[in-house]
Amino acid sequence: MLASVSFPCPQCQVAIEVDPNATAVAACPCGRPIALHHDAIVEGAVVACPACGETLLYKQKDFRQAVGCIVVIIAAFLALKTNYVSLGVAALIDWLLYRLSGEVVICYRIACKAHVRGLSPGPKIGAFDLSIHDYYRMLARREEQGLTGPDDQTGPPLDSRAHH
Ligand SMILES: [Zn+2]
Ligand SMILES: [Zn+2]
Repeated sequence: MLASVSFPCPQCQVAIEVDPNATAVAACPCGRPIALHHDAIVEGAVVACPACGETLLYKQKDFRQAVGCIVVIIAAFLALKTNYVSLGVAALIDWLLYRLSGEVVICYRIACKAHVRGLSPGPKIGAFDLSIHDYYRMLARREEQGLTGPDDQTGPPLDSRAHH
């Protein structure tokens, strides 16, 4: 599977998808060049966001990749035209969906949310964590207000690096 990173252009929000191994600077149709972070990929594993350099990322099953396979499987079952398998089909599809889907690594930054496919997640990348997501939502709100960094009440997500 080819490696790819997809993210919105920081200037015009158009979706950009490039191979982070083969691309140093992504070109957007709006003319803005976007330099990719090459230290984001270490020995084929994602350790940071190739688009924005953020080091907090999460991984989840990539259903986009699996859906294409499922269409073929459903077509095969329809071709059988046998009723007795129908009960097992739903369970089987669930199982196959899980088995066939690869992992996608996603950037927590609200403005970026880059999706990285075809590369293995680095050792620090865990499952989606709502508390980290909330932290980044708060940062994004403050960015809209022209502020930087966390507010006074909220510290950084302390456990985010510890338990992955
Ligand atoms: Zn653009
Ligand atoms: Zn990012």
